[in-house]
Amino acid sequence: MKQKLFAANWKLNKGPKETKSFFEEFLPLLPQESQAQIVFFVPATNLESTAQLLSQTKIHFGAQNCYSQLNGAFTGEISAQIIKEIGARYILLGHSERRQIFKESDEFIALKGKLVQSLGLIPMLCIGETLEERDAGKTEKICEAQLVSFMKSIDLKKDWVVAYEPIWAIGTGRTATTQQVSETHAQIKKLIQREGGSSQTLILYGGSVKPENSKELLAIAEVDGFLVGGASLDPHSFSKICL
Ligand code: PEP
Repeated sequence: MKQKLFAANWKLNKGPKETKSFFEEFLPLLPQESQAQIVFFVPATNLESTAQLLSQTKIHFGAQNCYSQLNGAFTGEISAQIIKEIGARYILLGHSERRQIFKESDEFIALKGKLVQSLGLIPMLCIGETLEERDAGKTEKICEAQLVSFMKSIDLKKDWVVAYEPIWAIGTGRTATTQQVSETHAQIKKLIQREGGSSQTLILYGGSVKPENSKELLAIAEVDGFLVGGASLDPHSFSKICL
């Protein structure tokens, strides 16, 4: 059985002080014997303090984005090289907020994926459809386009993770049904294998996951863990999801 992965996406929340108080509360809540893999995607400004706070633990951390080049005249951008130097293991790519608000294209995201892997870091690719696309029966096509463009760019023998996040379920309190999650994850798994990827690639679900629905969602055979936004901001809620 694959080891489950639980990822927290803090988005634009928590400064270094709140990060410190979060981990002071969160770490004692995790049982010593816990086998869960946990990753925190913190704001870039907190990577350094997160690295220090997690240095004695098995918990990983990562950035929520990076630029498609390592350095140069790109004022205001974040370099994967610097993220790596701070000790991060993962970089989240293609979150729907990056795609929708910042107009990131599949091609741009695919370039970043290649770069992230070239540094030995693990890209976590977010994919998912809007409500209109689901209602029009286009979910599989949308996921396919987002996946295939990324898979053509990365090295499929190296680690990467997929997070299926239906956009209509992100931050809305509306979770996809177990049938929708199971069906879409199975389609994604098939697509990954069709494109030459591994059956071992982790496929996480994201979209209003909370302690009240996490057990039911995690029981779905094709769900290898979660990417959690809102509920990851509270140490008690997130620890219950990871247990
Ligand atoms: C997310 O931002 O990736 C997410 C899944 O958010 P939420 O859990 O709040 O829906």
